[in-house]
Amino acid sequence: MKENFYYSQNSLSMFKRCPKMFEYIYIDGISGKGVNPELKKSIERGTNFHILAERYFNGMKDYFYIKDDQLLEWMAVLEEKYPEDINCRSEFEIRQNKGEIRLMAKYDLVVIEDNKIKIVDFKTNKNPYNLGVMEDNIQTKVYMYLLGENLKNIFPKMKIEDISMEYFQLNYPENKIFIEYNEKKHENNRRILGELIEEIKKQTKTFFSKNNETCAKCGFESFCQKQSKKTS
Ligand code: SF4
Repeated sequence: MKENFYYSQNSLSMFKRCPKMFEYIYIDGISGKGVNPELKKSIERGTNFHILAERYFNGMKDYFYIKDDQLLEWMAVLEEKYPEDINCRSEFEIRQNKGEIRLMAKYDLVVIEDNKIKIVDFKTNKNPYNLGVMEDNIQTKVYMYLLGENLKNIFPKMKIEDISMEYFQLNYPENKIFIEYNEKKHENNRRILGELIEEIKKQTKTFFSKNNETCAKCGFESFCQKQSKKTS
């Protein structure tokens, strides 16, 4: 692991999914085989939406050239919920290097309203999310912890309790996933993230394979099989 590596919600989620996959991608720098065309298209569309949203919040509502109806529909949903002149920061990045926790996050949107601060993450998934699942999600923990930890430098008048997070689902705008924050959750997140990073550091170069149903959907399946034959 490079000394200057910053953990992110993506890398930590990947480690939880499969430590071996984490090793291939973040230590060895190997990519898995291409995902299926349908999934690839939906990932590209999601990426394009995030680009358009960033432009929208930066005053560039210039997507007249877009021919993709789905993208335009999502933009209409976004515009209705968040006017372009709200007090916000779009694609806002925080990096921290405190003690053992080197962490980074790029937030889709941070809205400052009524002396409160709301992290908004845009989701373009086909299926609706569940509040309990999302509250326990590693992305929620990383995003809220990192903002809470750096709050005094960025928003000096705010307190931990003023932070909240919303997963805004473009396909289910009525299915509100809204999560509040407090000191207790913050301390809990500090412990969970610290322990997870510690676990990764201890495992360096001896990452174990998951070998369960995760493998069936993983782009490294054949590579992994070859590697285990070599070492057996
Ligand atoms: S094939 Fe299985 S063990 Fe190998 S990286 Fe993928 S999930 Fe992990």
